[in-house]
Amino acid sequence: MRFLLDPCGLCLIFLVWAVLVLCYVVTVRYVFISWFTGVVVEQFSYEPGNWMLWGVPVMTKKQELTTVGWVMYFIYQCLVILSFTSHIRTAFGDPGFITALEPPNWNRENGRRCDKCVKWKPPRAHHCKVCKTCVFRMDHHCPWVNNCVGLKNQKYFILFLFYTAAACLMTGLLMLYSLYCWFSSGTRVDDVDLYATVLCIGAFGASVFFLFFVIDFLTEQIDAIETNSTLVETYKRAHGQPGTFFTNFIEVMGPPSLWLFPVFAAPNICWTEPLYDDDKENDYFGGSQKARDYTPAKSKSRSGSESGKKSAGSRSRSRDYKQKVN
Ligand SMILES: [Zn+2]
Ligand SMILES: [Zn+2]
Repeated sequence: MRFLLDPCGLCLIFLVWAVLVLCYVVTVRYVFISWFTGVVVEQFSYEPGNWMLWGVPVMTKKQELTTVGWVMYFIYQCLVILSFTSHIRTAFGDPGFITALEPPNWNRENGRRCDKCVKWKPPRAHHCKVCKTCVFRMDHHCPWVNNCVGLKNQKYFILFLFYTAAACLMTGLLMLYSLYCWFSSGTRVDDVDLYATVLCIGAFGASVFFLFFVIDFLTEQIDAIETNSTLVETYKRAHGQPGTFFTNFIEVMGPPSLWLFPVFAAPNICWTEPLYDDDKENDYFGGSQKARDYTPAKSKSRSGSESGKKSAGSRSRSRDYKQKVN
């Protein structure tokens, strides 16, 4: 476990958790308990008498969730827990820090050294100035998780985006359903609970905002897997070993049976894997000057010059990138 003492990153981590908890509590209290209950259950409880040592048995009635309510509640709870767990694993896990001072098998191709942290720098590693060390297959330093996103935590980052998008979508739909139920119930405007209304509108607004926000990032992560290229490498106009989307996906996400769970990310890391030039398709560099002298303005699109359809998203991240990494 690692903990980066960055005030901005820590604030954003707590903001993510606060939004998740707010949406969860408001949805459970004002959607599930209000509109998905209906089954009346009788149960005994014991109330202490005034002068008796033993309690007095009293039969009470209470409402429980319907079957649909239980199923929805279970799914919703799973999404929130998995989103939360994935975020924690991304934030406090190792993104792929380079710890070795020397390469395993030194040769001209993989023998370069980082100028800043003075460690061995594999072809697909990049130095992060926030983390102050080199990270293998570094994509970007993400303030929302207060950590770098590299090969070893990319799966957790993708799952965090996926489950957050799903939880936000479900929150938004449940709020709309709640609104429909409220209109159908014929409740008078005078009887509206202002406190509950404000909380529900807040949860709905936050869920819609974060839904579009994380979908943008999720699209870029899928794009990164498809091209086997990190955001940093798009600026170098470079990519990793060409392969199918499936093989690249397994490399990041691990075995298919565990794709949906935030465990066992990137099981087979090849630290010396080469980097390829987008334009030449030749083995790119080991310690050449080109690796250090690239300028971000050379490339703005992950998809390459012939395709500009992803350029808007990549450009938005390029601004983030310029501020956060070298
Ligand atoms: Zn370094
Ligand atoms: Zn970093």
